Amino acid sequence: MSMASSKIYPAGSRDVPLLEIQGMSCNYGLERAVYDLSLTVNKGDQVCLLGPSGCGKTTVLRAVAGFQPLLSGSVSINGQCVSRPGDILSPEKRRVGMVFQDHALFPHLSVEQNVESGLRALSPADRRTTVSEILERVGLTRVAQRFPHELSGGQQQRVALARALAPRPLLLLMDEPFSSLDLDLRERLGQEVSDMLKADRITCILVTHDQNDAFSMGEQIGVMAEGRLLQWDTAYNLYHEPGNRFVADFIGNGIFLPAKVKTPRAVESEFGELRGDQDIVMPTGSQVEVLIRPDDVVLDADSSIRGEVVHKAFKGAEILYTIRFETGTTVLALFPSHANFAVGDNVGVRFEVDHLVTFAIDTTATDVIE
Ligand code: ATP
Repeated sequence: MSMASSKIYPAGSRDVPLLEIQGMSCNYGLERAVYDLSLTVNKGDQVCLLGPSGCGKTTVLRAVAGFQPLLSGSVSINGQCVSRPGDILSPEKRRVGMVFQDHALFPHLSVEQNVESGLRALSPADRRTTVSEILERVGLTRVAQRFPHELSGGQQQRVALARALAPRPLLLLMDEPFSSLDLDLRERLGQEVSDMLKADRITCILVTHDQNDAFSMGEQIGVMAEGRLLQWDTAYNLYHEPGNRFVADFIGNGIFLPAKVKTPRAVESEFGELRGDQDIVMPTGSQVEVLIRPDDVVLDADSSIRGEVVHKAFKGAEILYTIRFETGTTVLALFPSHANFAVGDNVGVRFEVDHLVTFAIDTTATDVIE
């Protein structure tokens, strides 16, 4: 069905977001997979949807690509409404490129032919130029004649990227593109791809359950849970100013420490007063939980707050310690790795919690987030 009559904005106008999702809900049969999700992505932005398995990330991508119908809401690309209930523009007309976890390369075609496979609309001469330019761009010129089984995992993923980028899509969608690669390669390739997409101002949505992938690529990150978008923010804010307990729990490490609001900027806890630099939403006297990140715990040999090291995990420049106090409370603490304690050592700490993040008390939650 044509969607030409359903333009929300004049296509190509400078103020139009490249992608706008408004109130999108999707079902599989009677099962709801996405609830009332809205977001906008501007041209050249690299954003990420992050969340645990089954939270609906892939469904959102499939809806943007045109493979998933909408129960309610709309999807617009470059000002043109491309999906709404009962009305869906086919995937090949959307100018959207996709890269998946499993590469999905044609095994019987060479690297060059794989990349060329998405360019049938071009003349043979234009096809050749485009393929050689894009292979150069992703650093694969040297292996252009090889077949997928003759490539490493990282190279195969570059071919998949080159094939998705060759038709010059308006929007690139990547679903867990690095998850089959080992950690080292995954970080390197993620950074390289991110730099390339930024340099070429390619608008991109990455979907992942891995926060390191999300942090290395997403300028804006949407945290999803159970089909809902919980917070759409920078990595810094998700870590330091999580909007709810799920986000606080899912992003980074930490514990939730019971406390009582003492003044608009301070709480009283078993470790004494903790003071932040912003007002607490809950009224004075409320029972709350304070988010304590490992970097809020500072080593202090002279402190009267002392606990026992019960676990240590070497992280290179830093060591993540688990410290248990007499009350039974356990915190995670990140110390420079020259502060090398052994399990069983007694250490003194103080708390420097500038971003005092508090939540209404939740008695059902577990203590340590790992
Ligand atoms: P993962 O990270 O594991 O890929 P996800 O966050 O991408 O998960 P989706 O694949 O979007 O999640 O799935 C969202 C929900 O919809 C899940 O409960 C899933 O079981 C369900 N679902 C996904 N695809 C189908 C399908 N084809 N038929 C029925 N239910 C589906």
